[in-house]
This record gives sequence, structure tokens and C-alpha cells, in this order.
Amino acid sequence: MLTEERRKAWQKWKTEQVKKNPVKGSSSGSESPENHDTIALLILGADGNIAGGCSTSGWGYKLPGRVGDSPIIGSGLYVDNEVGAAGATGLGENVMRYCASYQVVEFMRQGMSPEETCIAVIKRIAKQDPLGINLSINFVALDKKGNYGAAGTGNGFTYAVTTPKVSGVLHSAALSGVDTGPIGGNRF
Ligand code: ASP
Repeated sequence: MLTEERRKAWQKWKTEQVKKNPVKGSSSGSESPENHDTIALLILGADGNIAGGCSTSGWGYKLPGRVGDSPIIGSGLYVDNEVGAAGATGLGENVMRYCASYQVVEFMRQGMSPEETCIAVIKRIAKQDPLGINLSINFVALDKKGNYGAAGTGNGFTYAVTTPKVSGVLHSAALSGVDTGPIGGNRF
């Protein structure tokens, strides 16, 4: 909200970012993953239908007019009732440029497990993107048989699972040892 209080908080944040994440040749800092929060919810109903939804505050202090990956079907979320569903969190630019959730579902269509697909999509993006493994992205996936899995570029991404038998918080596969902290808002 554009209140005086929020303006001051933003100025303080900007000053801190310059110290914490300095960008060479720039007076501003880079974005920090601490200020964003997305959830994706993937559901396999008792009737065998798959559904998904997501909610986000976007990236903290984003540029005016920025649209992240979450509202774009195929980027932050994708559901195909024949195959499964996938959702993303993390730096949306690194997800939407690659239609990533769509790709997760397409890999599941080819027979890969949900965790394998999340890993495969991150590896494919990392191969193409100059940021490599420093993309700050995470995926969660669920297939039509009720198999689920998740993976992230770094360490620390957790996801919650509830089935008729178990309910708990799991650690997703991490493609690097970098601590991604609370990316995706899923820290418990
Ligand atoms: N994916 C969201 C975005 O880039 C941020 C997040 O996952 O918290 O807008």
C-alpha cells in the first residue's frame, strides 16, 4: 500500500539490500528472496480428478506493473486432468520464461515421477539460463496416481503433504547446497 509507513519501510529495505546484496556498478541492491511468499495447492480428489490453485504476494517490492509467474497458466501452475499438476515458487522470471510448470506436467506424461520431473525441469532451465543453478526456483508436482514430489535449486524448500494415510512436511530434493531459506513461504 502506498502509505507513508510503507514508503519508509521500502526505503529502509532498499538501504539494507545495497549492503546485503550489492550489485557491481549499481547503487541499488539485488532482490532478496526473503520478501516473497507463494503457495501452490495441488489436489487429487477421491473421484480421481486433479485440481490446482496458487496464491502469491509476488516478489517483495517488485516493480510497478510486474506480473509474476503465478497468474500465468503453464508458468506458476499447470493442471492436466489426464496426467497431473505442478506448481512453482521462487523468482517468477526464471519460471515463466520457460513455461516451467507446463514442462513438469509434460515430463510426467512421458512417465517420469513427480520428483524426477521437477529435477529435470530445473536442470533444463539451468542449462539454458546464465544464472545456472542460482535461479531460486522450486517446483512441486502430483500425478494422477497420487505420487508426489518436489525439487528446488537450493536447500531449504519444504512442502506439506496430506493423504488418507499421512500428513506432514517434507524436504524437497535440492540441486545445490545453497540455503534458499523460506522461498515459497513454506518454512515451518
Ligand atoms: N513466484 C513469485 C513471483 O515471482 C514469488 C514467490 O514465489 O514467492 O511473483
